[in-house]
Amino acid sequence: MRVLLLGGTAEARALAKRLHPDVDLISSLAGRVPDPALPEGPVRIGGFGGVDGLRKYLQDNVITAVVDATHPFAATITANAAQACVQAGVPHLVLARPPWLHGSALVVGNDREAARTVKDLGYQRVFLTTGRSGTAVFKDATAWFLIRAVTPPDADSLPKNHEILLSRGPYDYGSELALLREYRIDALVTKNSGGAMTRAKIDAAEHLEVPVIMVDRPALPEGVQTVGTVADAETWVRSL
Ligand code: NAP
Repeated sequence: MRVLLLGGTAEARALAKRLHPDVDLISSLAGRVPDPALPEGPVRIGGFGGVDGLRKYLQDNVITAVVDATHPFAATITANAAQACVQAGVPHLVLARPPWLHGSALVVGNDREAARTVKDLGYQRVFLTTGRSGTAVFKDATAWFLIRAVTPPDADSLPKNHEILLSRGPYDYGSELALLREYRIDALVTKNSGGAMTRAKIDAAEHLEVPVIMVDRPALPEGVQTVGTVADAETWVRSL
């Protein structure tokens, strides 16, 4: 058995830690972040070249199972992996951490809808946490944005009025509360990433009665087998 673990998340690192070294495992990272947190065990970095490239990788490297533990918003690699595994006849599992409950958040379908909501509701000081690829839709907005991202967004994707905070979670409740207060934030825009590492901003916003605009997750490819926890993914791998 040789498992390809599509990663870039804390869950993927936790799964690699549970499986290495007794399972033959290769973790895969996209290579977006210059100094990624590396999982235990062998790692490859970089795209595969679409569905065809991934299918070829599975065949060339004699991969017998794939666990897709990528971020819930990494929809392209998730769709590609589902397709490549069907084509190559390789068992495939998606490890998707449970989404956050919406609570009082305003749920929108995508980044563009989030931008329209900010404009329509007239928010002026927005904490934008949808990542480096989530800024472009706010480019023409007149509000002021505190943009938090792991890597810097492209300069031409930024709204006129902003400050960038480069950082990587986890974040705790106390510092999120302080941040929202310090910057006098009047709306939080977030993806429904789920998980504990970045949840505190929502709890802090709710405490301060700052409205939350939450971008809903992209749908998973039809028919994929899914688990919600690292432990269940480990059980699946060990039962192969
Ligand atoms: P994406 O839009 O779904 O994928 C774009 C392309 O990046 C894919 O077609 C693939 O290139 C390559 N790719 C993505 N994940 C890969 C992986 N684990 N190993 C090898 N190639 C990968 O992905 P994304 O949203 O840019 O996310 C990229 C990485 O960052 C993922 O590993 C994800 O887990 C992590 N991440 C994403 C987010 C987020 O909000 N999207 C947040 C935290 C971490 P080819 O077509 O050439 O194979």
